[in-house]
Amino acid sequence: MPSTRRDLALGATAPFRDRPLGHYIDGQSVDGTGSLFPVFDPSTGESLGEARDATEGELDQAVAAATSAFDQWSRTPGNERKALLHKVADLIEARAEEIAAVECLDAGQTWRFMSKAALRGAENFRFFADRAPGAADGQALPTAGHLNYTTRSPIGPVAVITPWNTPFMLSTWKIAPALAAGCTVVHKPAEWSPYSARLLVEIAHEAGLPAGVFNAVNGLGETTGRRLTEHPDIKAVAFVGESKTGSAIMRQGSETLKRVHFELGGKNPVIVFDDADLDRALDAVVFMIYSLNGQRCTSSSRVLVQRSIHDTFIAKLIERVKQLKVGDPFDAATEVGPLIHQRHLEKVSSYAAVASGEGATVAVGGAPAGGQGYFYAPTLYTGADISMRIAQEEIFGPVLTAIVFDDEEDAIAKANAVDYGLAGYVWTRDLGRALRVSDRLEAGMIWVNSENVRHLPTPFGGVKASGIGRDGGDWSFDFYMETKNVALATGDHKIMRLGVAQ
Ligand code: NAD
Repeated sequence: MPSTRRDLALGATAPFRDRPLGHYIDGQSVDGTGSLFPVFDPSTGESLGEARDATEGELDQAVAAATSAFDQWSRTPGNERKALLHKVADLIEARAEEIAAVECLDAGQTWRFMSKAALRGAENFRFFADRAPGAADGQALPTAGHLNYTTRSPIGPVAVITPWNTPFMLSTWKIAPALAAGCTVVHKPAEWSPYSARLLVEIAHEAGLPAGVFNAVNGLGETTGRRLTEHPDIKAVAFVGESKTGSAIMRQGSETLKRVHFELGGKNPVIVFDDADLDRALDAVVFMIYSLNGQRCTSSSRVLVQRSIHDTFIAKLIERVKQLKVGDPFDAATEVGPLIHQRHLEKVSSYAAVASGEGATVAVGGAPAGGQGYFYAPTLYTGADISMRIAQEEIFGPVLTAIVFDDEEDAIAKANAVDYGLAGYVWTRDLGRALRVSDRLEAGMIWVNSENVRHLPTPFGGVKASGIGRDGGDWSFDFYMETKNVALATGDHKIMRLGVAQ
């Protein structure tokens, strides 16, 4: 079975070994003429092919296509947008195995998670498709002498820039609401995992999306990404990636006053109190850092454990981490696959020396797992102090840092003592404490006695260095749409008369 899945992925990406992966502009595949960059298979380190960095002219063409398609698409009735986006979802479902296989090949994510992530992509399209007819809905705000009413209209052509960790799911999460709102899109996927974005744009056109509504350009961040965020005809940038890239995009877009929506990094705490259901907490702690190869923005990369249960909990944790199955991402039994790239493997690996140097213990792992690809052993650092780099920096790999705390105040102080604020996880049976801690944690999303279980109508996003804005439900439309107020006079209010003899 694993080799069949790998064959499926190799088949789907075969055209890009014969010819470099280019762009998709105005409903057409465009080979491109820009410089080439390599794409690697993270599980073998071998080349999967090459892709092209869009030239300035190609990027301009993509933005021009999105700009000219906007007039028609923004006025397409919501019901028609809804029907088209459901067709996109149908086709994603029909090709879910192939999409999942491409994610395993290109991003090194494991089959057990990717088979669900592809279907989640379809769900994202369905969720926002259903809301397209009501996207422009406003409010009536009557007052004496006037009826005020609000409407919403799509902001214009938008840029969507996505990272490499779960590329397909994240792209659909940003692109589906933009299209449902009536915006047109230029998407730039990450250069380390560009293939599933190509499948998505092809599927969208097969479903009947008009040319120019959804364009995809490949390229590097500092060239194509920068030009896209500086382009005067792009009205907003929806970005998922590192916090420092978010800062760069804010600078790049400042000249043209871009609206930005940022989903950035995290160093999320999971706080385990001594009254918690410790078996369930243990399952959740392991799941939330070692799934998706630890390359997950909402991963609980810091476990804060109450002193009274610390040693027994950590002992059990060590046993579980040692048993994690690292291997071929296509194998359904594999729990942890490779990291995305040699450079990322080097970054993640560098923290073992940092941990030891700072006085933490490398309880499990702490080194590459060997083999040809970019595998890193599931790692647990214990005895860490909150000031250490392993407790402060986003490592973005299967690496967990354990920190002890004494009481509620101490837990909250340690949880909040980082630059990030994306998610927080709290384990306790004390309802009052759950409410108090949730209230004081500096994070956009809190899960109590649970792992990261998403409900699409709820807001998703972070505070502090973890982001600006929220996605999900109507929050996505707030970003992709402009609100207008119309004040309609009933004719009986007194207008102040100027220039008239008193
Ligand atoms: P990254 O910031 O390096 O790259 C993300 C995208 O930005 C890529 O497409 C890249 O080409 C582009 N880019 C880079 N420099 C740019 C520039 N100057 N202008 C415009 N675009 C530019 O991030 P990454 O390494 O691909 O992804 C990992 C990061 O993403 C982690 O920090 C992770 O936490 C974050 N992430 C956040 C969420 C969330 O929802 N908060 C979700 C997934 C990943």
